[in-house]
Amino acid sequence: MTQPKLVSRCGIYCDACYVYRAFKDGGEFLDSVSKELGVPKSQIRCGGCLGPEEELWQNCRKCRVRACLKEKGFDFCYECPEFEKGCDGYESLFSSCLQRGEDTKEALKHFRIGKTEEWLKEQDKKWRCTKCKGKLSWYEKTCHHCGGSISPTK
Ligand SMILES: [Zn+2]
Repeated sequence: MTQPKLVSRCGIYCDACYVYRAFKDGGEFLDSVSKELGVPKSQIRCGGCLGPEEELWQNCRKCRVRACLKEKGFDFCYECPEFEKGCDGYESLFSSCLQRGEDTKEALKHFRIGKTEEWLKEQDKKWRCTKCKGKLSWYEKTCHHCGGSISPTK
């Protein structure tokens, strides 16, 4: 099997998650994320939402959306009839993601029509430092690679 894509079942871009970035990038960023979360560095790891369950970040194992999809037998939220109608659980997640510059509905629309690769390419461009081209996570105000400030135009 190929490496699972770094997208979540609800449309989040896992590659820009601070847990995933801390796990992948290590160094001082891992130190700071570990301190902020109060979780030992060895436990800061994840293989993404579509990765194996045992590699999933501990908070994502408890994810309500994940449990809901499992119960209904869907892989992604767009498969669910509630999604179009407006799902309470989804709307709150959607608005909090939107605040950090992520449009998860837009993501799901891409997945639905088989444009996941195109969407991933866009996200890869979007979540990078304009100065050093390092990969960024959602809440960074300064790049954890080069220390440069990040423009809030995301
Ligand atoms: Zn940078």
